[in-house]
Parts: sequence; C-alpha cells; structure tokens
Amino acid sequence: HHHVLFATAEGVEAVVDTGHFHPEAIVWQRLADYRAEGGFELLADCQAGRVTVEALMETLERSNLRGLGGAGFPTFKKWHFVRQESGPRYCAINADEGEPGTFKDRYYLERSPHRFLEGALVSAWAVEAEALYIYLRDEYPGLHRVLHEAIAELEAEGLAPPGYVVLRRGAGAYICGEESAMIESLEGKPGKPRHRPPFVAQKGLFGQPTLVNNVETVYWIPLIHQKGADWFAGHGRHGRQGLRSFSLSGRVRRPGVHLAPAGITLSELIEEYGGGMAEGHRLAGYLPGGASGGILPASKADLPLDFDTLQEAGCFIGSAAIIVVSDQDDLRAVATNLLAFFADESCGQCTPCRVGTEKMLTLLERDEWRVEELERLSQVMMDASICGLGQAAPNPVLGLLKDFRGELAAQNVIVKG
Ligand code: SF4
Repeated sequence: HHHVLFATAEGVEAVVDTGHFHPEAIVWQRLADYRAEGGFELLADCQAGRVTVEALMETLERSNLRGLGGAGFPTFKKWHFVRQESGPRYCAINADEGEPGTFKDRYYLERSPHRFLEGALVSAWAVEAEALYIYLRDEYPGLHRVLHEAIAELEAEGLAPPGYVVLRRGAGAYICGEESAMIESLEGKPGKPRHRPPFVAQKGLFGQPTLVNNVETVYWIPLIHQKGADWFAGHGRHGRQGLRSFSLSGRVRRPGVHLAPAGITLSELIEEYGGGMAEGHRLAGYLPGGASGGILPASKADLPLDFDTLQEAGCFIGSAAIIVVSDQDDLRAVATNLLAFFADESCGQCTPCRVGTEKMLTLLERDEWRVEELERLSQVMMDASICGLGQAAPNPVLGLLKDFRGELAAQNVIVKG
C-alpha cells in the first residue's frame, strides 16, 4: 500500500490509498451517486437530439482533448474519420493499460467506472456503433468485477441495451495495447499488429470502421461537456493546453497519479506534485513515456512535458508515465531491463523486432558498448519494424548513448565510439 496525492477535476486534493490489490477493497462510485451529480445527462441529451454530434465535436476540438493512450491524436478528428466511413461501425475502448509505469486508467476506472462508461457510450453514439467493446487487461481482475457490475447497473436502468457493452479480458500480452493487435485479439485471434493502411478507422473490428479510444480520453468527455471546453483547455503551462494524468514513479517522495497541467516540466512536477526527490537521491534523468518514450538527462528537466514537444530530444510522452531515475540507479540495469521487457513482449511476426530486441539485449550485457553497432541495429529496428514496439525499443539505449556518457563511464560501462 502506498499513498498518492490526487487533484480531482474539481481541484480538490486528497490523499488516497492505492493499495487495491484485493478486488473486494475497491470502493467505486455507484450509478445512483453518479446520476445524482449529473451523470448520464450528456448521454440522454445526445440520444434525445438536444446535443448534436457536430456540437459535441466542436466542444472537443476547442477543449483540445487528445488521445491519452499515447498517440495524442485529436479526439474530435478521430470521430470525424470513423464517421466518414460507411457502416456498420464499431467502438472499442482500449483498457489494456500495459505500458510500464502507467497506471492512470486503472486509477479512474477504480473510482468512477460510470463516468468512464458514459464517455464510452457517448463515443459509441457519436459513430453510431453497433456495439461497444471494452478490452480490459487481465492483470486488473478487481476491475473486471467492477466493470461487470457497473455494466449490469446500466442495463438494469435501461441506459444501455442488454449486450450492447461487451467486456473482454486480455490475456497478458503488452502488444495487445497496440490498437490493431487489440482488434485481432477481440476477434479471437493471436494479438499481432496489422500493417497500415488500412487504418482501424477504415477497417477495424470484423473488417468494419472502428473508433478506438483510450479509457482516460473518454473519461473526460462528460466533464468537458459539463464544465465547458474552456475549463479543460484553460489548464496548461508553457503554452500547452489541457490536463494530463501523470503516472509518476521512481525516486520521488510521493509516487502516484497526479493530475497536472499539460506542459508542466519535470522539475515542476517533482517539486509541486511529487513531494521532491526521495531522501538521499539526486535526479540523474527520467523516462518521460514509460518504457517506450526514451530517456532524458537531468539537464533536460525543464522541457514542457506534452505531446510533440519532446520530439526534438528524440523522446515522446506517450501515456504520461514518468519514471524518475537517480544517481543511485544502475543505468546498464535500466537498459537491459527495458530491452528484456521488449524482447519478452515482441509478438515475433517481424524479424527486426523479434531478433533485434534479443540481439540488442546481448550487446548491452557486454562490458563494452559499441556505439556504431548499437546505432546500426537501432536504425534497422526503427526503419523496418511493423509496429511501435520494435520501432521504440531502441529509444532508451539511444538516449543513454546521447546524454549519459559521463554517468555510464562512472558506472564502469565502457562506451566505444
Ligand atoms: Fe510484433 Fe515487434 Fe513486429 Fe510489432 S514490431 S509487429 S511487436 S514483431
């Protein structure tokens, strides 16, 4: 059990316990309580034509809501692309939260499953979906029970037709968080990413146009409608707009989910939300986007943390999982741990990823790191892998080679070239 500081959408901060490892321990907001605070009014307004899909898309555009699963694609645009395709269409929610260091979706699902479900049903309504699928990672067994009960509550009150919301369990594969692999898995096949094009918006579930949204993305929709686009867009720092749920972990005093303005810097996030660095630890660097987003040195702790803005540094924020590394951490272990993870989780269908991750792990375990060799292998993986797993796997290694030469030398990793 550990405690986190949580800023709610209302701006109230509370210390809560996140030790919900036993399903029975999850305390979630029941349907009656959610409705008492205006829950499901948006869905009713949509269904009755009081809110049109065009008006809601305009609100989402002004709010600057973007896909919070990692890609950051504007939500209203995604809706637009799926709506352009002829039906039948589907909606699938990606609740396969598997990026190392990411636990924000779980956080919201454990507390407000109905707000999430309303956002999901509104998204399904927006694309006139035949059915709404929810793909939940199986490592969240407590949440399976919560969602199962919450969906039954919805059906009992006539808020969703029986069987319209389909809850599916993943089977423990990281790659099923990739949207086309998730769709393969939903169809009952092994979770292997598809080639693009066609995009899932064109040919997704059962070959039909499919809207795929992340849990947190749809969670915000009822709140943005209630409070207005300006409320959401009004948050933000250093020129960025919106709120981000940072999953902060590593060497900080208060790890946990911290709702903070988009564009906040790492220094600000650690100081204002994370309670400072952990006792006896000095910031050495950070992973801004879980295992996949690369690694940045302490000297870059003042970059705005948001989509697009880290690209120049060769990194990306993804699902906003910030892992803080200190001077006490073994950098070779960081690199080999991440590569072992990617090698384990590679679906194996393409050679640059299947062989590349294993090969890179072997190279990193040697006393000497040869830059040319590592960079050449990285290039092949980035250029020729089918999906983001193989393309992003070299990121942490490239980051270490670029910005951590001094630290590596001090830890007796000989870098040649
Ligand atoms: Fe599978 Fe890796 Fe290729 Fe992605 S890059 S399709 S995970 S082998």
